[in-house]
Amino acid sequence: MLKTKNYEFWFLTGSQDLYGDECLRIVAEHSHKIVDGLNAGGRIPYPVVWKPTLIDSVSIRETLAAANADPNVAGCIVWMHTFSPAKMWIRGFNEYRKPLLHLHTQFNREIPFDTIDMDFMNQNQSAHGDREFAHMLTRMGTKRKTVSGYWADADTQTRIAEWTRTAVGALESRSLRILRVGDNMRDVSVTEGDKVEAEQVFGWEIDAYNITDVDEYVRAVPENEVNALTDEYYDTYDLIYDGRDPAEFRAHVAEQARIEIGFRNFVEEHDYHAVVTSFQMLAGLRQLPGLAMQRMMQDGYGFGAEGDWKTAGVVRLFKLMTAGKEGAKGTSFMEDYTYDLTPGREAILEAHMLEVCPTIASAKPAIRVCPLSMGNREDPARLVFTANPGRGVACSLVDLGTRFRMIINEVECVTQDKAMPNLPVASALWRPLPDFKTGTEGWLTCGGAHHTAFTYDLTRENVVDLCDYFGIESVVIGEGTTMESLKRDLMIGEVYYK
Ligand code: MN
Repeated sequence: MLKTKNYEFWFLTGSQDLYGDECLRIVAEHSHKIVDGLNAGGRIPYPVVWKPTLIDSVSIRETLAAANADPNVAGCIVWMHTFSPAKMWIRGFNEYRKPLLHLHTQFNREIPFDTIDMDFMNQNQSAHGDREFAHMLTRMGTKRKTVSGYWADADTQTRIAEWTRTAVGALESRSLRILRVGDNMRDVSVTEGDKVEAEQVFGWEIDAYNITDVDEYVRAVPENEVNALTDEYYDTYDLIYDGRDPAEFRAHVAEQARIEIGFRNFVEEHDYHAVVTSFQMLAGLRQLPGLAMQRMMQDGYGFGAEGDWKTAGVVRLFKLMTAGKEGAKGTSFMEDYTYDLTPGREAILEAHMLEVCPTIASAKPAIRVCPLSMGNREDPARLVFTANPGRGVACSLVDLGTRFRMIINEVECVTQDKAMPNLPVASALWRPLPDFKTGTEGWLTCGGAHHTAFTYDLTRENVVDLCDYFGIESVVIGEGTTMESLKRDLMIGEVYYK
């Protein structure tokens, strides 16, 4: 099970020193109550830590610098209880580099019409103070997310919670390391990209090794470990023999166990968080890693097939952003394959040669051993299943030569009620939103890839916020999208992201 670090978020309250000690004492008391309420709400997956009220540029700069320096701090949530002249914040935000949420809320829910006087107004003026603060952030071009709403409301807390998940993905991206043991598939365009630019924009270290370096680890796995993991597979999954001899079947499955252990040893020793393979560059490896990669994805590693390090990186970020989420339905590498064009139920069958993550499975996966349609190695063992029904997002990060673009399509996975006994791979069947024609025409117009990072557990808002943090273009195809609106978005992007 993937666990993120013990991240926390700092809650910073802005004020000034003109109000007197009694007012500032009450401001601190109120912000304490808000922080306690956010933590007690049970929705925000990371602790929110109260910090003393900030009333001058020195304390602001020191606090934001401390947030930058503390590896446990994933971001800051800032709120103005009173008026806080915003020039005080400039020095601090000139240096601040972590995700930032401007929470536009107010301690009291209602205006106390019967008793309100100027003292109350001076003490409770978020509408006033947050405007001064936001103006300065906008003028400085400071990237942030703004959430407006009453702090005790479930909706407000849920939006803060989702932002904290996005913030952790954004921050973790800065130390993400991707292992390539295979270049991009020969002649393929869309999986290519500028790795230097990716390190500048996303922070990803993308390193190449020979697959033979990993194969040494695979060959070194002791037989007893291979047998133990194979036994675990047999206990965990159903087995579909397809008429194969059980001993021969087990030998194929055991080879994936050997590959899984060898790969895990290699990536753990070399500190990688995502893996890219290529069926064209397997050297001595006896099978294309199938079951092995499926299980590593399940444990939170990013994965991309055919050398696709961009999708591997995004899968990893989505795994981190959704880690430990209650009711999570899964996150996977995915590929668009074939269409159902029956009027009224148009859909895309999603699959891959082998590597679909079992977190999205609707039922217990089964192991099959089948020939690979491409490549020239032994028949690889893989997990087969169909995916959960439900809403998700399919995301493609493409390199347009001068910039990265993230294409985000809302999709609705449908129940696969017809068996596909001859299809030896895991699959999902989804309908792109807003409808099949706009979804597919839009995707093609945006230049989206056939590979995607897919998750049920994030929304378009999460992914757009993530892209905003990186400063890259994001294009949404989903509810409300028309080809006219999409074309305008792309035209604006052409100018803005030049
Ligand atoms: Mn592929």
